[in-house]
Amino acid sequence: MKPYRSFNDFSMETFGRKVVKYSLDGNFSCPNRDGTLASGGCIFCGSAGAGEFTSKGDLKAQIAFQKELLANKWKDNLWIAYFQNFTNTYASVEILKERFEPLLCEESCVGLAIATRGDCLSEEVLDYLAELSQRTFFWIELGLQSIHEKSIEFLRRGYSHQRFEESVAELKKRKIRTLVHVIFGVPTENEEEMLRTVQYVSDVNFWGIKIHNLYIQRDTKLYKLYEKNPFPLLEQEEYVDLVVKALEILPSGTVIHRLTGDPPRRLLIAPKWSTDKLNTLYQIEKNLKERNSRQGKKWKGEER
Ligand code: SF4
Repeated sequence: MKPYRSFNDFSMETFGRKVVKYSLDGNFSCPNRDGTLASGGCIFCGSAGAGEFTSKGDLKAQIAFQKELLANKWKDNLWIAYFQNFTNTYASVEILKERFEPLLCEESCVGLAIATRGDCLSEEVLDYLAELSQRTFFWIELGLQSIHEKSIEFLRRGYSHQRFEESVAELKKRKIRTLVHVIFGVPTENEEEMLRTVQYVSDVNFWGIKIHNLYIQRDTKLYKLYEKNPFPLLEQEEYVDLVVKALEILPSGTVIHRLTGDPPRRLLIAPKWSTDKLNTLYQIEKNLKERNSRQGKKWKGEER
């Protein structure tokens, strides 16, 4: 057993079988890239819109590609359609239905996950997502990154933490499973500030979390900034220590979907250790065991 509640453990408990995520590109755009809010996107967002691991073609072709890609690794698995690139609620409900609904009838597909922004959730969209949650295993992913306005501005997320919280309240009201992304190592923050973001995640008791370190990817605005004015990036040891502290303050029921970044090797500038996912995960587990600790050790609230 891992000292934290991984998505794999969660899916074995829930479905009794391995569940994999098929990363799909639903051909959506993003208001932070198309000129509605801004044209450059979040500072760390690459040309694929934070979804580097999808393939080209229509959704049928993408599913076939993912099946083949994972065929040697997993047999007899169930899968979840994961709309990863760009903002997957940035369209009318009619278009969302056109793209999402056919997938629910695909063989072995047990659910749907969509990544989006907290400022792209209209009342109509929220109601549709609530309805989807009744019909399939559904969750939504929001890029929180940080609760601190100075960091949100540095990252050019394009909307405030207050707006984020308003959307979270609407999602909670509709009982929609919500997962948040958090970034450690934003140069505007110290350790205490990073952990305050995790404390917020803990207090809200989100269903899931993804954490990764800030890394420099070639096709981003962050790279241009870093090239001109390099700033310190987290060392692997510092990052591992932060993740361990974060896991301790998260509720033991929060599902941990990711604890490392996943930069494409060909685009990664720094830090180089970011591609060594297995070693980072190994160090996190080792560190927790050495401290005789685990996820939730310092959590004081009530489980969901
Ligand atoms: S919201 Fe997502 S897709 Fe849009 S710019 Fe930011 S990271 Fe990229």
